[in-house]
Amino acid sequence: MRGVVMHAPGDVRVQDLDDPQIIEPTDAIIRVTATCVCGSDLWPYRGIEEVHDQPMGHEYVGVVEQVGSEVKTVKPGQFVVGTFVAADGTCEICRSGYPSSCIHRVFMSLVGTQSERARIPYADGTLVATPGTPEPDLIPSLLAASDVLGTGWFGAVAAEAGPGKTVAVVGDGAVGLLAVLAAKQLGAERIIAMSRHETRQKLATEFGATDIVTERGAEGVAKIKELTGGLGAHSVVEAVGTHESMHQAVGSARPGGHVGFVGVNHDVTLSGEDLFFSQVHLHGGPAPVHRFLPELIDLIWQRKINSGKVFDLALPLEEAAEGYKAMDERRAIKAILHP
Ligand SMILES: [Zn+2]
Repeated sequence: MRGVVMHAPGDVRVQDLDDPQIIEPTDAIIRVTATCVCGSDLWPYRGIEEVHDQPMGHEYVGVVEQVGSEVKTVKPGQFVVGTFVAADGTCEICRSGYPSSCIHRVFMSLVGTQSERARIPYADGTLVATPGTPEPDLIPSLLAASDVLGTGWFGAVAAEAGPGKTVAVVGDGAVGLLAVLAAKQLGAERIIAMSRHETRQKLATEFGATDIVTERGAEGVAKIKELTGGLGAHSVVEAVGTHESMHQAVGSARPGGHVGFVGVNHDVTLSGEDLFFSQVHLHGGPAPVHRFLPELIDLIWQRKINSGKVFDLALPLEEAAEGYKAMDERRAIKAILHP
């Protein structure tokens, strides 16, 4: 089969790979219908994370081709949405709602899904079947549920977005934009998107943002305070993962407020003393997407949300390198790849 391999930073190639096989009785093999490039794939692309001949990709939707003898919840022929962390679905951590920290978790980024087929470990805890074969125009939205929508949703849930709340979102990548959509769905009263890119501001507004703040860092914090009577937002979603964005997020929350941080953290340092006196709730980490998938699939199936709008570049899998380049240069929010 064909699949994407990152040989070194900036060096992405599509090449022949071995076809995946069932290894464990809990595995499934899927034919990938659509996959995509993630903002987190840009960390190794830019040389910030080490990379060496790594098959890439962890977001995917597809059709089940084969299942191991112990797989019970999905069967060949079904269309499925999978999560970016494979989880057994049965351990105490999974059952408490945190499959992304399952004691047996497998990061799908180590398996690779930017390919024609993929082996999915722990299929029962990782895949969710859709009610039927989706209309083609629903596929991008379902693919978004695999990671960016699920992650934005978790960010909003962790930040306790809801009725009567003012929610600020730091980050205007796909996750940040979909956190805006999530906050809207969860009933937030006011949603402040922090973005300085016109096309992203437009999409944020379409997804439910009521205010746009273009300032960053301390100026961004000051602007959020100004918009909230000097108090700060009730809920802040951090969807970048840098030192600056974490500080912007914590600083933008009011005392007693909640910060949901879902950008993969890189070199973030928080002063214990600042954190102590900020008196905010912090919750985040890799999103437990499987917890939200049935609800998200239902919202997409009923056409209540159009999360697929974050894909503004569609390419055949063979042109994956251009997808990475366009996202790296911020010419594209997110690239969908069709094997
Ligand atoms: Zn588990």
